[in-house]
Amino acid sequence: MGLISSTRMLEKARSEGYGIVAFNVHSLDMLYAVVEAADELKSPVILQTTVGSVKSLGADNIVTAAEKASNQFNVPVALHLDHCTDYSVLVKCIRAGYTSVMIDASMHPFEENVKRTNEVMAIAKHLDINVEAELGKVGGVEDDIVVSEDEAQKAVPAECVEFIERTDVPTLAPAIGTAHGIYKGDPDIDFDRIHAIAQLVNVPLVLHGGSAIPDEDVKRCISLGMAKMNVSTELKNAYSAAIRDHFIKTPEALDPRQYLSKAKQAAKDLVHSKILLVGCAGKADEIQENERKKSHLVVAN
Ligand SMILES: [Zn+2]
Repeated sequence: MGLISSTRMLEKARSEGYGIVAFNVHSLDMLYAVVEAADELKSPVILQTTVGSVKSLGADNIVTAAEKASNQFNVPVALHLDHCTDYSVLVKCIRAGYTSVMIDASMHPFEENVKRTNEVMAIAKHLDINVEAELGKVGGVEDDIVVSEDEAQKAVPAECVEFIERTDVPTLAPAIGTAHGIYKGDPDIDFDRIHAIAQLVNVPLVLHGGSAIPDEDVKRCISLGMAKMNVSTELKNAYSAAIRDHFIKTPEALDPRQYLSKAKQAAKDLVHSKILLVGCAGKADEIQENERKKSHLVVAN
């Protein structure tokens, strides 16, 4: 059905108590690994790219590949731009056909975050695309955004309410103790804070740094209102480990199709496990049906 906005699928996920995974992809075969695995489990899925991947692959190429995959397979697919701090890149991706964008102004004071998010909402409200904003600061490294442990700050529940009221942003990523990358110890997730925020705001919440969070913690986050979980590092690790393993066993290998097919399969296995974990397997048909009804309404109007 082509790429769709992630807003409605995430609202439905939050109201029904399951999650949808957004996987960061960096190449054509990673993109296909995600969509094929989602199709095998009849699951909605979000493809996402960092600004770095937009710069290396080109927004148009990414959109073309994602659009093609979304038409080839019969599951709802959204394409999201992750952690964008640059308004011009964000507009470029919207023009190219991204159906969801994250304006990350979390490194700025609250008022500036509101202002920058509203600049993006001014465009997005005329289009059927999702917008995600962040409050507090998620620690770790994501592309060229580095937040040290000392700088990481958790979102304040009352600020989340004010932020939603003043921006109308449809999805919110509150920092709640997770970090980007792989954890050194166990993540220190502030479940009470998630609960407090979710009691006050009804938009779908986003769990950043979803790699390697223990399964029980992921389930608890989702049950509290986290409807989108971002997975980047774990997918990269699975993909790269398969290639590394291939070269350790056969250092003379030179046919990329041999090692890339193994990498793709490793990525697919990881995608399967995360989709099963968050509970969105089998939800594709309902979401597609809702999207079709909505597009009929638009045509009828
Ligand atoms: Zn993130």
